[in-house]
Amino acid sequence: VRFDAGSGSRLGVIEGDRIADLTAADPVAWSADLAFIPRSGDSALGRMKRTAASAPAVELNRAKLLAPVPAPSKIICVGQNYMDHIREQKAEVPTTPILFSKAPSSLVGPGDPVRWPAGLTTQADPEVEVGVVIGRTMKGVPAAQALDFIFGYTVLNDVSARDLQFGDKQWVRGKSLDTFCPVGPVLVTRDEIPDPQNLRLSCSVSGRVWQDSSTKEMIFPIAALLSFICQGITLLPGDLIATGTPHGVGAFQKPPVYLQAGDTMRLEVERIGVLENPVTGGT
Ligand code: MG
Repeated sequence: VRFDAGSGSRLGVIEGDRIADLTAADPVAWSADLAFIPRSGDSALGRMKRTAASAPAVELNRAKLLAPVPAPSKIICVGQNYMDHIREQKAEVPTTPILFSKAPSSLVGPGDPVRWPAGLTTQADPEVEVGVVIGRTMKGVPAAQALDFIFGYTVLNDVSARDLQFGDKQWVRGKSLDTFCPVGPVLVTRDEIPDPQNLRLSCSVSGRVWQDSSTKEMIFPIAALLSFICQGITLLPGDLIATGTPHGVGAFQKPPVYLQAGDTMRLEVERIGVLENPVTGGT
């Protein structure tokens, strides 16, 4: 996790109801802002576990958890990647992944409010997704090796302004409004999720379930997606990949429903955790 317990952004490892404070144990190796992924990639895993074993602890309930990746060089997303989401739209099954991106400036952490400028959109809609964080520079990697390049997994909310998304010729504006990419609350390292294609994921808005599915529904599994992207685009350590959303988003409910000021979004992915954010709306 990245967290703030009153003295700025720090890195830590959650152990029960406490956080092992890596930054306090070794401020040079674990200086904030997740520079450790670019510096040491995969070998950070072993060092993290060794440092955590002797690090001072912070009470989890005294810390504010932050977005686990503060500044990815890019956030690459895939649209229409779940069979159940294709069926609800009566869309054609894509033969290659439909890629788009969200601006890194849209990132916020767990608990941070999602808002938009008054009048800009009336159709904000959440999307629960598995977020993949890259651990090593990745270019031209075949699918069979692609999972080895992952540092870990997080919960990602691909909040979308549907009126802007479908009104513009490209999706980037409707997907990139400030605060429209909540991530967290934790980054679960790859070794803890041997099979990312068998995870339940769900999204509730103010207590009502909108989405409830499984990563088994993915058309292009995570390994295939990463390989497809990195044939032509170098993925850098710390980059974030949004792997698509299942059925149940507000735009395709009958009648359609959208986020309102006062709502709370609760997104859960099995083995990763629960990401909650309040909606403060057009302010
Ligand atoms: Mg999405």
